[in-house]
Amino acid sequence: MSDVPRKRIAIIGGGITGLAAAHRVLELAESEAQPVELTLFEATDKAGGVARTRRIGDYLVETGADSFITNKPACIRLCERIGLADELISTETTYRGSLVLRNGKPVPVPDGFMLLSPAKVWPILKSPIFSPLGKLRMGLEFFVPRRRAGRGEVLPDESLAAFVRRRFGKEALERIVQPLVGGIYTSDPEKLSLAATMPRFLDMEAEHRSLILATRKQAATQAEQHGAGARYGLFATLRGGISDLLEKLRTTISTRADVRFEAAVESVSRAGSGALLVQTASESREFDRVVFATPAYVTSGLLGGLAAGNAAASAPSSDLMELQKLLGEIEYASTAIVVSGHRLADIAHPLNSFGLVIPAAENRKLLAVSFSSRKFPGRAPDGRVLLRTFVGGAMQPELLELSDDEITRIVSEELTGMLGVRGEPDFMDVVRWNRAMPQYHLGHVQRVDRIFELTDSLPGIELAGNAYRGVGLPDCIASAESAAERVMK
Ligand SMILES: Cc1cc2nc3c(=O)[nH]c(=O)nc-3n(C[C@H](O)[C@H](O)[C@H](O)COP(=O)(O)OP(=O)(O)OC[C@H]3O[C@@H](n4cnc5c(N)ncnc54)[C@H](O)[C@@H]3O)c2cc1C
Repeated sequence: MSDVPRKRIAIIGGGITGLAAAHRVLELAESEAQPVELTLFEATDKAGGVARTRRIGDYLVETGADSFITNKPACIRLCERIGLADELISTETTYRGSLVLRNGKPVPVPDGFMLLSPAKVWPILKSPIFSPLGKLRMGLEFFVPRRRAGRGEVLPDESLAAFVRRRFGKEALERIVQPLVGGIYTSDPEKLSLAATMPRFLDMEAEHRSLILATRKQAATQAEQHGAGARYGLFATLRGGISDLLEKLRTTISTRADVRFEAAVESVSRAGSGALLVQTASESREFDRVVFATPAYVTSGLLGGLAAGNAAASAPSSDLMELQKLLGEIEYASTAIVVSGHRLADIAHPLNSFGLVIPAAENRKLLAVSFSSRKFPGRAPDGRVLLRTFVGGAMQPELLELSDDEITRIVSEELTGMLGVRGEPDFMDVVRWNRAMPQYHLGHVQRVDRIFELTDSLPGIELAGNAYRGVGLPDCIASAESAAERVMK
């Protein structure tokens, strides 16, 4: 091992992406007997970025991500590799399902409804969410033809809103799809690219024509599958919260890498030798490879430093400028989560589900309320309930200009109106995430393809994170691991 030259690798950003990239680099260094000198630079004093778990009294509170989808295996596989398999827990079986607000009252999302499409017809017919005409229009989805390109044409990117209106009608979009998807992306569905966010629905249309038919088939086969997710249910988390994963990664990495906190990278430039020069307020060091695991707008700024020494690289400066521009154009939304603990006896609603989503058409001030302690065990003491209320997002950015006290007052009033929450909560805290949610707008897939094409012409540079090909934890981990694999080639 000692004869092989040491690869000097820097990872910028200590969110889940940076941590997972560092972990994969160290795994490969060991398996391929390739010595590395790895440094992770994190601007704040903590690892984890927008994912974080806090203990508040006897409550276990997620202030960012609270779980991850299991049908994308990267997160489960990583947990298994770092010895956390026994700590994985799935959602409670008692309270499955979600509620959606209709005329100010929570009503159940029809059984079998999968994000955009129903798998069962009868629950839709019985649901008070839709008018008789709305139900009829949804049923006509069986007969809506596929969208086809003319000869020699490429189909333009379609927004989520346009797709759902075309296949299921306006009511389905406004009353159920917008709030369900809004709960994930906090986005405007008129701008959200379906190809970038949920391409499987486009594939379903291409293959089966009708999404109702395709969803029914999928629901039947899912019941028979025994993939990674089958063992844990569709969503999983860790017994002690997402921080279990972050902390385990941080401690594992720290034994073999230099992990620096409060070390914001200020620029990355090219040294005369061709090496990459990473500069913080206190030092400047040379590396052979740099992984940017930072938000796209930060990466865009940091890449500016390469322009000066660009002669040493193969990329012309116009490519670098285009790359910076494309990265800078990825918009981000801000959101706030209000976490609160309550006595169950103080809540009129039985909270017999995982949460409530609120359509924009209801003109309220909340995006969604997650009933965290109904989803996972160990989140609240007996007789108590933990709520996470989402405010702001791309549709209501003005709410984030309010003070914490004003946001708390609005959330309290809304929770009283929607769920009958009364009495003094055990705690109520506002957690703000500014420019934390990348928005996959129309054209995102092409933009990201071009970003990676341009990055290929910058020797030693790799990009990873939630800005590109998926925002969920498994997507971030997959993106991190693939960047690490390219770095180690
Ligand atoms: C409120 C909220 C709820 C969510 N819920 C879920 C969920 O339930 N399930 C799910 O799967 N996903 C969820 N997500 C999405 C998921 O959590 C994120 O996409 C993911 O955590 C992003 O990780 P990241 O490492 O790519 O980016 P970040 O977490 O943004 O990390 C980037 C890191 O880079 C650091 N940094 C920035 N600039 C510099 C610099 N110049 N030098 C050094 N370091 C720098 C930052 O401090 C930060 O630590 C949620 C996101 C949010 C905001």
